Amino acid sequence: KCSSPLISFLDLQLVLLGDSGVGKSCILLRFVRGQFDPSSKVTVGASFLSQTISLQDSTNVKFEIWDTAGQERYASLAPLYYRGAAAAVVVYDITNPETFLKAQFWVKELQKHGNPDIVMALVGNKADLENEREVSHAEAQAYAKSNGMFFIETSAKTSENVNQLFEEIAKRLPRGQS
Ligand code: GDP
Ligand code: MG
Repeated sequence: KCSSPLISFLDLQLVLLGDSGVGKSCILLRFVRGQFDPSSKVTVGASFLSQTISLQDSTNVKFEIWDTAGQERYASLAPLYYRGAAAAVVVYDITNPETFLKAQFWVKELQKHGNPDIVMALVGNKADLENEREVSHAEAQAYAKSNGMFFIETSAKTSENVNQLFEEIAKRLPRGQS
């Protein structure tokens, strides 16, 4: 039997949120360019990149990604980026418990002011630094579950789970008429 391929296209606006230094820009560079630059620059304000992936069901998903700055002085700008977003990725650093608390602040912010259908992911980055871990996988997993979020640990450095993160978000998007 031969079935004709049904190809569909989705545009997905995604925002990266989280404390400064957790690796948001590095995750994005790893996803879009396949690179890791340990001397990457601090994000000022916000920056934008896009990347298209093909899922196994032949859906092509074009990610339009806003990478925000984690510094306090830009926090008031964040709603500009997350209000229209279909997906939000909240990142913390598994070696830094303060960044996990900051991630919880962003989750509450999204629950209060984000699009009600937003797909949210909680990401514990720097998974390569296992010997410096201070936030347990189990604790973060439980927090994510109780907030209806998808949870994954990544390493922008080794690329572990970076593509999987974006694929899982794409799969979780509500598929209406397209
Ligand atoms: P942002 O402020 O959240 O955008 O963080 P950056 O992407 O600028 O990264 C902050 C610092 O963490 C940089 O020195 C990166 O080299 C480092 N970094 C980012 N991701 C990882 C990772 O997965 N593992 C390790 N070991 N370091 C990382
Ligand atoms: Mg950055």
